[in-house]
Amino acid sequence: MYLKNEAAQKKLEYITCHDILTGLMNRYLAVSHFSSCESRKMNENIDYAIAILDIDDFKNINDIYGHDCGDFILKSYTQELRKKLDPQIKIARWGGEEFVIIFPRLSSETVFELDTIRELLSLSPFIYNGQIIHVSATYGMSSSRHLPSAFDILNDADSNLLIGKQNGKNRLVVSQKF
Ligand code: GH3
Ligand code: MG
Ligand code: MG
Repeated sequence: MYLKNEAAQKKLEYITCHDILTGLMNRYLAVSHFSSCESRKMNENIDYAIAILDIDDFKNINDIYGHDCGDFILKSYTQELRKKLDPQIKIARWGGEEFVIIFPRLSSETVFELDTIRELLSLSPFIYNGQIIHVSATYGMSSSRHLPSAFDILNDADSNLLIGKQNGKNRLVVSQKF
């Protein structure tokens, strides 16, 4: 009886913190990681970065190949992203076809590495029901070096994402003062 409750409790905790489609952490858990990053910055002066990505022309994928295919692409794209990023880097589904990436530490290579992954993913199509589907995404990124809170950083990253969309998509835009 106790074990059954424990299992139910664990399941509830999992559902509270994760996105069911992709298995990634959800917004709720991402925000708690924002807080951890803010604490480390305040107490140990460890800088962090936040990126936000939005799949390009995702509505077309749904319209052309169907909603199930759209779901498959969301899962597949993020699985590939997960495989390519260091395990300490967190990925969360922010909503719809938007995902947030939290880099708990910054290095001189962080931007280059993320841009390389973005490009690689855009060059590696997915196969759904025998159909070859190319998927790209636009990324915006910002860091704690010049901004006080994780939400300021996220907003700045989101502005950069918008700039990327306006300038042709399939690119990573970082703040001038990264
Ligand atoms: P842009 O390049 O400017 O980002 O264009 P877009 O088509 O990707 O963006 P838009 O906001 O027009 O469309 C996003 C679509 O994503 C609309 C919505 O129905 C779809 N979507 C959101 N969540 C899901 C989901 O969980 N599964 C599927 N299949 N589609 C989803
Ligand atoms: Mg979107
Ligand atoms: Mg989109």
